[in-house]
Amino acid sequence: MSTYDVAVIGSGPGGYVAAIRCAQLGMKTAIIEKYSTLGGTCLNVGCIPSKALLDSSHHYEHATKHFADHGIEIPGGVKINLEKMIARKQAVVDQTTGGVDFLMKKNKIDVFEGVGSFKDATHINVTKADGKVDTIEAKNTIIATGSKPSTLPFIKLDKKRVITSTEALKLKEVPKHMVIIGGGVIGLELGQVYRRLGAEVSVVEFMDRIIPGMDKSLSRELQKVMKKQGVKFYTSHKVTALKTTAKTVTITADDKKGNPVEFKGDYCLVSVGRRPYTDGLNAEAAGVKLNDRGQVEVNDHLQTSAANIYAIGDVIKGTMLAHKAEEEGVFVAETLAGQKPHIDYNLIPGVVYTWPEVAAVGKTEEELKEAGIKYKSGQFPFRALGRARASADLDGFVKILADETTDEVLGVHMIGARCADLIAEAVTAMEFRASAEDISRMSHAHPTFTEAIKEAALAATENRALHV
Ligand SMILES: Cc1cc2nc3c(=O)[nH]c(=O)nc-3n(C[C@H](O)[C@H](O)[C@H](O)COP(=O)(O)OP(=O)(O)OC[C@H]3O[C@@H](n4cnc5c(N)ncnc54)[C@H](O)[C@@H]3O)c2cc1C
Repeated sequence: MSTYDVAVIGSGPGGYVAAIRCAQLGMKTAIIEKYSTLGGTCLNVGCIPSKALLDSSHHYEHATKHFADHGIEIPGGVKINLEKMIARKQAVVDQTTGGVDFLMKKNKIDVFEGVGSFKDATHINVTKADGKVDTIEAKNTIIATGSKPSTLPFIKLDKKRVITSTEALKLKEVPKHMVIIGGGVIGLELGQVYRRLGAEVSVVEFMDRIIPGMDKSLSRELQKVMKKQGVKFYTSHKVTALKTTAKTVTITADDKKGNPVEFKGDYCLVSVGRRPYTDGLNAEAAGVKLNDRGQVEVNDHLQTSAANIYAIGDVIKGTMLAHKAEEEGVFVAETLAGQKPHIDYNLIPGVVYTWPEVAAVGKTEEELKEAGIKYKSGQFPFRALGRARASADLDGFVKILADETTDEVLGVHMIGARCADLIAEAVTAMEFRASAEDISRMSHAHPTFTEAIKEAALAATENRALHV
């Protein structure tokens, strides 16, 4: 039997990063993954493939709608080869997961393919696809088993017409009408992909706004822009039933007034969230407790109810984001090495990769109001920037919320071109507890989208943005 200092169960961004950091810190490390490719949800059926399809569909949209504005004419017209688009996406995934294989070898991490299941707190059975079982011994274990798509109790996911994000990443045809249940990040990103490719897209959302966890101003602006792009929104609609035939799906929802409304489509994407995944883990055998939401319960050190077992990523509390899982992977590795790492959960940015992109860090206006914190707000529209006009990306704004007395930046919320990358400046500033004035006095290259951050900071400082 092989013995390890650390065994990591699950090879998503939480697990594989934890394994690398453990190995860097001199621990003999094993990683267990039930699928034949490493990388978890994020690399195989999440972050990476969705971004590949967002990029491909964005190119198509540019070619069909915007090239002519730039004086580029395509005499024969433009057409989609969906099979090729999906194959390219898969090639991107394969390269990326192959990169994780390389990193495991480079760091001398032993990879076990199979389902990891606790025998007790220091022994894990790994059951391979052919039924053979390896047992490994580990002084410490990190559970990084991630999450799976969830559904509504009365909706059966047939994975043909009633699908999750996993199937939506490999459809064989562009839907005629895709009905999306859930106006969160995943539904909106994939909805935008298929809208660009020509599908009619209807988003049915239970809450009174899309991307409900984010600042209200971002929800409003994103809905406005996506509506212009042709996506139909039905907020405050509670889905009550779903029926399928061979080629159709009918969804019934109660509208604001409680009246039933029907949506008929050829595909229904159910994107109502994800559930922590612990199937087959046999957590009880190791003394690892789950909470009533099915998450592995952890303390502030991400330690479970079994002292030598930790858990990270989607399978524990907190936002389900790849970079949150990564931070936690590093945190546990360094804790095991006797260091004193720290994660500021307030500064984990949230991003939606639609176009315009949406990104935020820190507190929303709603949260500040609820906490009774007095704040000032500075906002700057992208359309006032030369860079935005050059690329015709005029939608959106940057909003900075700063403490009314100290001027410390408390939250940054942005929607517009390249916000997924721009948010890093806000994270850096907030990590160093910058004031809005600090940001406003930093030189920002011209012409860039980052100038909107400086201008919003100026607006928050003394209401003295320069270009509006
Ligand atoms: C369509 C989509 C798009 C997304 N886009 C983004 C994005 O742009 N940015 C972002 O930050 N997040 C995004 N996410 C979320 C992100 O994918 C997750 O937050 C992230 O993957 C969580 O990482 P993890 O390591 O906790 O778990 P996972 O990535 O889910 O990995 C868990 C791994 O554990 C394995 N496993 C489970 N049980 C066992 C077992 N018993 N034995 C062996 N192996 C096991 C699983 O097979 C899986 O490979 C997206 C998700 C989806 C679905």
